[in-house]
Amino acid sequence: MQLPADLHMHTPLCRHATGEPVDYARIADAAGLTEIGFSDHSPMARDDFDNWRMKNSQLDEYVAKVRLAQERYPQLTIRLALEVDYLPGQESWIRDLAARHPWDYFIGSVHYISDTFDIDNPAKLSEWKKRDAFEVWQVYFERLTMAVESKLFEIIGHCDLPKKFGIRPQQDCTPLYEKFLDAAAANDVAIELNTAGLRKECKEIYPSKQILQLAFARHVPITFGADAHAPEEVGMYFVEAIELARSVGYNETVRFNQRQRETVWL
Ligand SMILES: [Zn+2]
Ligand SMILES: [Zn+2]
Repeated sequence: MQLPADLHMHTPLCRHATGEPVDYARIADAAGLTEIGFSDHSPMARDDFDNWRMKNSQLDEYVAKVRLAQERYPQLTIRLALEVDYLPGQESWIRDLAARHPWDYFIGSVHYISDTFDIDNPAKLSEWKKRDAFEVWQVYFERLTMAVESKLFEIIGHCDLPKKFGIRPQQDCTPLYEKFLDAAAANDVAIELNTAGLRKECKEIYPSKQILQLAFARHVPITFGADAHAPEEVGMYFVEAIELARSVGYNETVRFNQRQRETVWL
């Protein structure tokens, strides 16, 4: 079976990943992948915003590391991308970032539901106790919908990230998912099947089968990403992810070159 491109992986510049891009490329090549994309956490306008991303001044170094992997592994297609945090008000900063290098795609991710609460950060678990889980889900999906409508991203990352620690609301969240996916379909934005969830407490791929079914019904395209923060995680659980995608009806996936989308058989 030909594995789809792994479009989501990191580098040590984000300060919580290990291994150089050349190491990720070597593992990808050995695993039989034919295409990967680096999508490290983008810098914020302010370097002191948090401590889990590259600094502004490191963006060129990041691009150089990816270029080196491209030179060393010419048999592998290696895309240059970023996982960009979407926060309302950051749109012009994201446009500036887009203009700085010839990116192949941007993954738009919501990690922050306020300027100080990054919901996937283990150090912020106490913040979860101060809120109702449904409130987190509501703000999160509202921001995801805004991210899609901003037209700044080709792909939306791990689109049900709030489930990471296994905390889930009692309420039915279907209307939140539908509104987000209607916007994704209307703006022609893809969502990713991110297998990192299988390595977390929720023990489930992002997004859930329910969300994926709703996405398929709206013809929202999909990509695949292991969200590797270490070389050995590249392509991890892709067989499970393909199985999930096929189980809801998908037989195609998409990839990106210079921000242009191409559809390929799954
Ligand atoms: Zn990360
Ligand atoms: Zn992320």
